[in-house]
Amino acid sequence: YQRIVLASRPASNEEVQPAHFRLETKEIPAIQDGQLLVRNQYLSLDPYMRGRMSANKSYAAPQALDETMIGGTVGMVLESKHPKFAVGDTVVGTLGWTEVAVSDGTMLRKVDTTHIPASAYLGSVGMPGMTAWYGLNQIMAPKAGETVVVSAASGAVGSVVGQLAKLKGCRVVGIAGGADKCAYVVNELGFDACVDYKAGNLEADLAAATPDGIDAIFENVGGAIFDAALARTNAFGRIAVCGWIAGYNGEPTPLDNARLILTNRLTVRGFIVSEQPEFWPQGLSELGTLVATGKLKFRESVADGLASAPEAFIGLLKGRNFGKQLVKLS
Ligand code: NDP
Repeated sequence: YQRIVLASRPASNEEVQPAHFRLETKEIPAIQDGQLLVRNQYLSLDPYMRGRMSANKSYAAPQALDETMIGGTVGMVLESKHPKFAVGDTVVGTLGWTEVAVSDGTMLRKVDTTHIPASAYLGSVGMPGMTAWYGLNQIMAPKAGETVVVSAASGAVGSVVGQLAKLKGCRVVGIAGGADKCAYVVNELGFDACVDYKAGNLEADLAAATPDGIDAIFENVGGAIFDAALARTNAFGRIAVCGWIAGYNGEPTPLDNARLILTNRLTVRGFIVSEQPEFWPQGLSELGTLVATGKLKFRESVADGLASAPEAFIGLLKGRNFGKQLVKLS
């Protein structure tokens, strides 16, 4: 079988290159009692992986060199000597960038694909959906009629934030890169408006889309995009700082409007969804119901085959994905 390992680390101000990864061929090992063998069907590619590739101090330990790249996976059990898993079960876990993996069942969860497609467990009904659910409900806590803004609005996290906020009766404004992504956010996901930051009039367009100011921000990008939203905040606004993708390659992301945190008495809170395990059962159950009943829509960018993972990941960091970025394995 094949797997992809981290071959070298990008400098903290360097873009990820294909040469930072290496494709390897390995023999499938025999499983022992208490273990199972999983064939991965989809890999999840996520922006946090850029941080793990670097040895800099962060909230999580770095990815080890020459080891299988970390990452969320959904797959099928091929062989089992584990009492809780049977051949044919669909399992979600973090088995990484590999076609097959041996697991002892730790961090592995059996899922039901009757009403929810397997891939959705890596998106709206998985970690990204949970991220949206947590930031919206536990930090922003918007009331009906309030204006909510979310950046990277067409993406895995942003698309869920906006749809959940619409269900709460908020005015929801997305920020996304390009006319196609904005049209999707408004026409398919039902946001009230979406500002294309690449059109060159971010401040004016955001002002037009938020005539009553902004009560809560779900920040996925940072830098100039966050700054423009900060400028529109109302008194006692709440900001969930979820991501800072504009700065993941060490780019400067200055904020001119940070003074408004003081003058508008804003609450600003960063969070890491994996550190909130007590909320996951409730969040995933709500998200699962919404997806199964068609009330929560999602879109996927699917790269084909393990070898396509590095380029697809590099594309994700440049906004080339349109929806949740996955890799489908043969
Ligand atoms: P997305 O599916 O939203 O894909 C990333 C998107 O970010 C791109 O499509 C692009 O959208 C946008 N983007 C990329 N580079 C830039 C840039 N330089 N400037 C502006 N926008 C850029 O990814 P996710 O939904 O998985 O993640 C969204 C954010 O949430 C990330 O910042 C991620 O790190 C964070 N996150 C945080 C978690 C937590 O626990 N705190 C957990 C999960 C995710 P566009 O074309 O519209 O610009």
